[in-house]
Amino acid sequence: MTTTAPRDERLWSRCDGCGSLLYRKRLRRNLDVCPECGAHARLDAPERVAQLVDPDSFTPLPDRAVRVDPIGFVDAVPYPHRLAGARAGTGLDEAVLCGTACLGGHPLALAVMDFRFLGGSLGSAVGELITRTAERALADGVPLVLVTASGGARMQEGALSLMQMATVSQAVAGLREAGLLTVSVVTDPTYGGVAASFATNTDVVLAENGARLGFAGPRVIRQVTGATLPEGFQTAEYLLRHGQVDLVVPRHALRGRLAVLLAAAAAGRHAPVPRPAPPRPVAPPADPARDPWETVRTARHPGRPTTLDYLETAFDGFLELHGDRLGADCPAIVGGLARLDGQPVMVIGHQKGHTTADLVARNFGMASPAGHRKALRLMRLAARLGLPVVTLVDTPGADPGVAAEQQGQAAAIAENILALTVLPTPVVAVVTGEGGSGGALALAVADRVLMLEHAVYSVISPEGCAAILWPDGSAAPQAARALRLTGADLCRLGVVDELVPEPRPAAHADPTGAAELLRLAVAANLAPLLAVPAATLVRRRRQRFRRFGAARASVSPGLAAPVTGRTEVA
Ligand SMILES: [Zn+2]
Repeated sequence: MTTTAPRDERLWSRCDGCGSLLYRKRLRRNLDVCPECGAHARLDAPERVAQLVDPDSFTPLPDRAVRVDPIGFVDAVPYPHRLAGARAGTGLDEAVLCGTACLGGHPLALAVMDFRFLGGSLGSAVGELITRTAERALADGVPLVLVTASGGARMQEGALSLMQMATVSQAVAGLREAGLLTVSVVTDPTYGGVAASFATNTDVVLAENGARLGFAGPRVIRQVTGATLPEGFQTAEYLLRHGQVDLVVPRHALRGRLAVLLAAAAAGRHAPVPRPAPPRPVAPPADPARDPWETVRTARHPGRPTTLDYLETAFDGFLELHGDRLGADCPAIVGGLARLDGQPVMVIGHQKGHTTADLVARNFGMASPAGHRKALRLMRLAARLGLPVVTLVDTPGADPGVAAEQQGQAAAIAENILALTVLPTPVVAVVTGEGGSGGALALAVADRVLMLEHAVYSVISPEGCAAILWPDGSAAPQAARALRLTGADLCRLGVVDELVPEPRPAAHADPTGAAELLRLAVAANLAPLLAVPAATLVRRRRQRFRRFGAARASVSPGLAAPVTGRTEVA
């Protein structure tokens, strides 16, 4: 065996992840992702732009980086020398490349940071260029995508560097006010001032596989606290579990995910094409002989389709968004963008499961405060983007735990009820299984409230009611009868607008059929709402929730409503 000739560095490179020696062209064809171990090598800004946007669509912004040395900073060498070196080394004017482009045919403004240039540090010129890119997005009425890679602020520019966090955030705020989508794509590494501003205050935060993001770097944290850091600390996957990012995306899928987001945002900005509401499925009259306790048991059947089942069947193209951005991603609530009959919608629902393991992993569909806050974030995002919200309610109730109370369960539910009351976009809620108490209402203050034929919706579980009001705790079936929690009862009370039929004998026997009926019912109820101005929608929604019980029974407005333990309206 002969020794090989010295390998040309331009032809070969060594993977930082697994150490494999890789043929450079093969690596590039694989988007600089190691085919052996999947490690994502860092990309420079021009390569990133080339990978992300439609071919030949990128036009750099006309603005050039202004050379500044605002505080005359000198360390080992004067700051201008460092800048000159970075320019020579990268061929870039500054640590960001900005322009307009198309992605999947959708126009956007784009700023891509380059870590090679002084560690992607956020100096005044970088802040200025990103701000101008955001202003360009605002002027053109297009989304803004920011690809971050940065060690943080540029200390050679002192406090003026710190101020860039506010400058760029202000530009992001302008887009938020205008209902224009902002997305950050967090790449490795994103730290300090960039992490604590435009990398995380955008509408949607995507993190590339393996990217690390944090305010303080691991070395600083170790020095200050002396703590041993957890496995995978600050990696994209770790951040997803802790509710900090919407999605972790492998590089190959990044373009596709961005295209889905841009398509939804584009749909939200255009007035919906008026279309006739599809025929609504009609539930047969309720069987008066059926015991409500039977309905409770059917509503809890483990084979009953879950929110994720409906997202697979009744909706198309679900793109799940995660996290409350405050520290957790509650598995009992799922949400994200999907299409219903071609109409982009935000879907948010409780998630149970079919097996014990699923149910435990999803906390039996009982949302934590983080789940309610995730739902709130997604509702507000939908409203900003002009997309309707569809909620699927199936929960025994909100999580009744110590941690949930410490984290403000009551306030989290309260805030959702308040937010839905004034949400300036159509909202259709469907109680698909159990509509349990305040946890259910946190997703069900809607323009139209539907209920599956064999679902239940109640102020308390029959077991809970029996334990409190009956001397014998085993009176749950009696409580179920007394609580009037079936669809037929709730339609009579005006709490529910319409029942969605289920296949015989119930949804669990034919999940596909159930999904089709749900799809038709939601589409039929959503279509007329799309044409209603937001202010009118909100006014009617508030009227809808003003008319129950005592309000309905009162003789005339302004008079004291009769106070009765049970107000029934025939
Ligand atoms: Zn590798």
